[in-house]
Amino acid sequence: MAETVFSKILSGEIPSTPVYSDEDFYAFRDVNPVAPVHILLIPRKPIPRITDISEDDALLVGRMFLVANRIAAQEGLTEKGFRYVINCDEWGGQTVFHLHLHILGGRPMTWPPG
Ligand code: AMP
Repeated sequence: MAETVFSKILSGEIPSTPVYSDEDFYAFRDVNPVAPVHILLIPRKPIPRITDISEDDALLVGRMFLVANRIAAQEGLTEKGFRYVINCDEWGGQTVFHLHLHILGGRPMTWPPG
């Protein structure tokens, strides 16, 4: 599996600001936030894109959203609402090829996205 900035964050080679950690997931603050709260939640398993998940990952991906909901609540986002984003490939705007969920909140979101 190719190294990415997120695999280097997981190994501690690149520093990050932790928000949540367990044996399967790590969450940290986005270095270039686009909202007052901008957290990236990643599986420790290096899955490049959401389209690369298999049946074996179904539980992992389901649990990823349970963890995301806990983080959203901890960050005080659940009262007013928030947004989850997964970018996929070039047209989806994906720049880091290690699956990640953007947790965005702290301001009203617009639609459609850019
Ligand atoms: P995406 O464009 O969906 O692949 O999102 C990648 C995200 O990773 C962007 O929002 C970047 O700001 C963020 N990012 C890149 N490098 C770092 C880093 N070293 N620490 C925290 N976030 C990062």
